[in-house]
Amino acid sequence: MRDNFEVRRYDGAGRLGKLTVPRSSVTVETPALLPVVNPHVQTISPAQLESQFGAEILITNSYIIYGSDQLREPALEEGLHDTLDFSGAIMTDSGSFQLAEYGNIDVTTEEILAFQREIGSDIGTPVDIPTPPDVSREQATEEWETTRERLGVAESVDTGEMLVTAPIQGSTHPDLREQAAAEAASTDHDLFPIGAVVPLMNEYRFADLVEAVAATKRGLPESAPVHLFGAGHPMMFALAAALGCDLFDSAAYALYARDDRYLTVRGTEHLDELSYFPCECPVCTEHTPDEVATMDDESRHRLLAEHNLAVSFGEIRRVKEAIRRGTLFELVETRVRGHPTLVDGYRTLLDYADQLETTDPVAKESFFYLSADSARRPEVTRHHDRLGRLDAPDELLLTTGQHSDRYEESWRLVVPFGPVPRSLSDVYPLTAETPDRLDRSAYLAAADGVARLVEANPETAFTVVHDGWPESAVGTIPDRVTVEGYTPQEEQD
Ligand SMILES: [Zn+2]
Repeated sequence: MRDNFEVRRYDGAGRLGKLTVPRSSVTVETPALLPVVNPHVQTISPAQLESQFGAEILITNSYIIYGSDQLREPALEEGLHDTLDFSGAIMTDSGSFQLAEYGNIDVTTEEILAFQREIGSDIGTPVDIPTPPDVSREQATEEWETTRERLGVAESVDTGEMLVTAPIQGSTHPDLREQAAAEAASTDHDLFPIGAVVPLMNEYRFADLVEAVAATKRGLPESAPVHLFGAGHPMMFALAAALGCDLFDSAAYALYARDDRYLTVRGTEHLDELSYFPCECPVCTEHTPDEVATMDDESRHRLLAEHNLAVSFGEIRRVKEAIRRGTLFELVETRVRGHPTLVDGYRTLLDYADQLETTDPVAKESFFYLSADSARRPEVTRHHDRLGRLDAPDELLLTTGQHSDRYEESWRLVVPFGPVPRSLSDVYPLTAETPDRLDRSAYLAAADGVARLVEANPETAFTVVHDGWPESAVGTIPDRVTVEGYTPQEEQD
């Protein structure tokens, strides 16, 4: 792995980074969206992607250019940047998609990498085998062996300053994904696409997607730039960014437009079903759905593609701002309410709170408790781990109310975190803002914090005074703790 990626700031495993692309002397800020440009059909021109939408990088398919008499010669003579009229970074795919669709392609990794370099690509891709979800372990292992050999072949090709990707496969076998990632990272390639996850996204299998990404991330070093290949729907950018994906590519903006589908951060709408455009972009401000629906195909597809791009780039900016301010989890919690399967994705991501915690900043602006899922955020996990290391005095009162002189020392009890020593009272995340009407998960998490502290301090006499925690949470406090002041409260879910 070469050194071309720098992380500026983390939130969870999400990060703001800079990808240096030496061939065109461009630095791409990540998370970044790469619009997919079809060399034959350009719904929106690359120049417009750059000037109107701020695209710093795009992706096009070198295999299509290679196979077309009409496109190959100009690309070889003038180079991709001139033929496409785009001054940002250009990544090229290799034909792996066509391989997956049609079973075979007539080009080798050596040939296609040499061609990508010749046409001036900034980031080239070997021909990997995109192993679909749900195949047997044997098939996934066998196909990864082929991809791994090709990554080896790619290392021997003279690619000059062109960055080269090392796609990671492994189907829906997380351990194979993790192993493949570790092997890909041991090559001298630069960028790591997570391959063949499009079927998972198309089928809304976000829990499986999160498993695949989390496993890949475990196999990669922290400094590796990660591309979620084929992830073009803005409703899942925040979730994928929170896992540490840096690059997304969107063919969806154009493909969906051609099908009269309208992207939103909460899902997909069909033009026919809209009476109002729920969006502030120029297309949606200047037109009504009825007007757009009656336009000719070309105008209608172009306007829908422009809207789809505006929403997608807008969401990438929102994700970046959220990482900068340390509010990515709040954004993810809001976004996943768009679809129940996204909630599954988020809950799966929270299964890996420990993995996210390693890069999560110690201090952020604010912690908003927004749903029962907030109780499982990495900040809560981290506080519980800290409680397991804290020394308590011989006698300690843990209270949601005031200090009592009957006790030597008292600590505050803060839901969902649990006991908080006086010294940490004003420290993030213990300053979290929570609703007055908390859910059971919040109390259970706080009780879990009590248990962690009690476990770590077997000699201490603990007393807990709470203001009506539900019995289900009080019941999990260790028996040797004296629990006082309990006034039953109706449990809320
Ligand atoms: Zn719009």
